[in-house]
Amino acid sequence: MIHYEGRVFRPPSEAYSLIVQVTIGCSHNKCTFCDMYKEKRFRVRPLEEVKADFDEARRMYRRVDRIFLADGDALMCRAEHMAEVLRYIKKLFPECERVTSYGSPKSVLVKTPEELKMLHELGLEMIYLGLESGNDEVLRRINKGETADEIVRAGLMVKEAGMKLSVTCIAGLGSTELSEAHAIDTARALSRMKPEYIGLLTLLFELETPLMRDWQEGRFYLMNPVEIAAETLILLEHIDCEGSIFRANHASNYVNLAGTLNRDREAMCSRLRQALDGKIKFRSEAFRAR
Ligand code: SF4
Repeated sequence: MIHYEGRVFRPPSEAYSLIVQVTIGCSHNKCTFCDMYKEKRFRVRPLEEVKADFDEARRMYRRVDRIFLADGDALMCRAEHMAEVLRYIKKLFPECERVTSYGSPKSVLVKTPEELKMLHELGLEMIYLGLESGNDEVLRRINKGETADEIVRAGLMVKEAGMKLSVTCIAGLGSTELSEAHAIDTARALSRMKPEYIGLLTLLFELETPLMRDWQEGRFYLMNPVEIAAETLILLEHIDCEGSIFRANHASNYVNLAGTLNRDREAMCSRLRQALDGKIKFRSEAFRAR
């Protein structure tokens, strides 16, 4: 059996990937909206354990096309540690077409451009980076631990190393008070990075987090579907990301949107306007999930 510690998360696009934990948890683990790794203390798994999981996967699967390296911040391990993992994957799974991982801004920024390039050459194809918001006040309030500029710099380093970049942001994170600034600054940060993929989720509470407690105790207002649609419209009206694939078709979103920027921007804006006019139904709360 492959060894998994605690709950394991992966981006929707890694649904059919082999997942192996290179690290446990998230090195930051302090974002107020996030419940993903709260029960874990961050650590880098010893190489022997990681290799044993890959050996087991080789015995279990005849063909492995994609591999996702978990947990929340797999790239936080030293470059040489990650390089050894990637060399082992190359040796064991020559058929594997794509290796990806989450990468916090810090995990990218502490590496040199040469190290990132080496990891790409060894097979690391894409990094999933959480921007959450391009607005520094929103980032401060959610305790992201990074400024928008730092996150953009990390994204640009990933791209300069030759890797693809997938960036996630979250509608509703600034509540109504910061909604417009959140939308415009997020559009600006995305436009600077021009990631290959942009995923827009919508804030949703499931398990207890500090932000959920703020909401329950009246300190945080959770935006309704109309307000979220209006915010998303502002974001799309300000974005300039030629060629980026934009998706807001996650179970947390009230209105499904998918298209290639900038070509499909107007069609997506028009869908949001229709939702605001009541011509498209919002996803009901009962069907929303993270
Ligand atoms: S960096 Fe990502 S995984 Fe870590 S606490 Fe923040 S949102 Fe959660």
